Amino acid sequence: MLKDKRSHGLWELSAPPAPPTTVLGEHVSAEVVIVGAGYTGLSAALHLAKAGRKVVVLEAVEIGFGASGRNSGFVNAGLWVMPEDLIATLGPVHGNRLIGLLGEAPREVFALTERYGMECQADHRGTYHCAVGASGLKQLQARQAQWSRLGAKVELLSAGDTQARTGATGYTGSLFDPRAGTIQPLAYARGLAGAAITEGATIHTGSAVTGFERSGAAWQVRTAGGSVSADWLILATDAYSTGATASICEEQVHLPYFHVSTAPLGHNIRKTILPHGGAGWDTKTILSGFRLDAEGRLIVGSVGALRGTGLSIHRAWAKRHIRKLFPQLGEFELETEWYGKIGMTPDHLPRLHSYGPNAIGFSGYNGRGIAPGTVFGRELARLILGEIDLAGMPLPVSELAIPAFRGIREAYYEVGAQVAHLPIAPA
Ligand SMILES: Cc1cc2nc3c(=O)[nH]c(=O)nc-3n(C[C@H](O)[C@H](O)[C@H](O)COP(=O)(O)OP(=O)(O)OC[C@H]3O[C@@H](n4cnc5c(N)ncnc54)[C@H](O)[C@@H]3O)c2cc1C
Repeated sequence: MLKDKRSHGLWELSAPPAPPTTVLGEHVSAEVVIVGAGYTGLSAALHLAKAGRKVVVLEAVEIGFGASGRNSGFVNAGLWVMPEDLIATLGPVHGNRLIGLLGEAPREVFALTERYGMECQADHRGTYHCAVGASGLKQLQARQAQWSRLGAKVELLSAGDTQARTGATGYTGSLFDPRAGTIQPLAYARGLAGAAITEGATIHTGSAVTGFERSGAAWQVRTAGGSVSADWLILATDAYSTGATASICEEQVHLPYFHVSTAPLGHNIRKTILPHGGAGWDTKTILSGFRLDAEGRLIVGSVGALRGTGLSIHRAWAKRHIRKLFPQLGEFELETEWYGKIGMTPDHLPRLHSYGPNAIGFSGYNGRGIAPGTVFGRELARLILGEIDLAGMPLPVSELAIPAFRGIREAYYEVGAQVAHLPIAPA
C-alpha cells in the first residue's frame, strides 16, 4: 500500500482495487460518523447504512490501512484466552455472551462475503492449532475439553492426522476447528467498504480526524479539509490510532508480527500442503502460522518486525522454518514480506470504551479481530439502532487504562522474537 512494500505486502499485490472514495473537503451532517476504515468501522457502517442510517466514515489513510489490511487472514472463532478463563474474567453473563457471539462470528464473515459477492478468497474449511511437543499437546487437550463442555465441535487430531491434513512435519497433534477459515484480509476490508457504499454509506479516505467535541446534542468531528456533525460517534481506530484518537492505542502494548510468502508453488507440492484447505499456527510462545493463498503461495508468519536487525534475523529464520516444516518444497525463494502491529491488552481481552454521550468503540483485539471486529461492528450498529442497550453489548464498558512499562514491554517482544529466531535458538 502506498509506497511501503513491507506494510501490506502480498495482500496489496493480490487484492481487487478499493472502491473509489474522496477526501472530505466540506462540512457535512450525518446520523453516525465513524472514525477508521478497518473491519470494525466498516462493518458498523455497512449494518447502519443497510438499516437506512446516514453514515460517514473518516479514514486517515486508505481502506484497510491498519491491521485489517496486513493480517494473516485466519478467521477464527473465539479469542486466544481459554474459553473458561474468559468466563472467569468477564463473569458468566458477558463471558457466555461473548463466547456464543464469537463462536458464530466466522459464519457471519463468510455469509457477508457471499451476500455481497466479495472477491476475497474466502475459504470456510477450518483451521489447525498445532501442538509443539508434549506440553503443546496438553494445552490443546485442555482447550478441546473446555470447548466441548461449551458445545463446540472442535476435534483433537493425532500427530499423523495433523501431518496428513496440514502437510507440516513435527507437530505432536492439533486442534481442528471447523467453524473457522481464511480470507484475503485486505480484499475483505475493501469488500466490506464496497458493500457499505452499496448500502448508502459515504467513506472519505485521506481524512485523518484531528479533533472531536460535543456541541449541543451532536458531535463535531474535524479533519484538515472539513468536518462532520453527527448524533453518534464511533471510534474504530484500534492499534493504528493516530491524531485525535491516539489515546486508544496508548492503552495497548504493541506486538510486532510479520509474514513472508513464496512464489506460487508447483501443483504437486501444493497438493501436499493443507490439501483440505484451512491454515495452521502453533502453540509456541513466539508462535508462527502458515497458510496458502488462492494462487498457491505459501505464507508463513511469526512475531517480529522486519526492520533494523530484525529484518535479516526474521527473514533467515523464516527460510529455515519453512525448510523444516515443509521439506517437500526443496529450493524456494521468498517473494514478498510485510509486518504490522497487534494491539495487546494486559488480560488479552478486547475493550469497549465510551468516549462521552453517544460516542463508543471497540479496540484491543489481541490478534483476533477479523471475525470479532465484524460482529462487534454489527453490535455497535444494533446499539445505535436501539435494538440492544449498553448492558446487552458483548463486553462491559471499561475506562481507558495505560499499562505500566509499555515501551519496555514492546522492546521485550521484539528482542525476544529476535533471540528466538536466531539460528542458535532451540527449534
Ligand atoms: C500482523 C497481524 C496479523 C494478524 N492476524 C490476524 C488473524 O489472522 N486473524 C484475526 O482475527 N486477527 C488478526 N489480526 C488482528 C486484526 O487484524 C485486527 O484486530 C483488526 O484488523 C482490527 O480491525 P479494526 O477495524 O478495529 O482496526 P484497523 O484495521 O487497525 O483500522 C483502524 C483504522 O483507523 C485509521 N485511523 C487511525 N487513526 C485515525 C484518525 N485519527 N482519523 C481517521 N482514521 C484513523 C487507521 O488508518 C486504520 O485504517 C492481526 C493483526 C496484525 C497486525
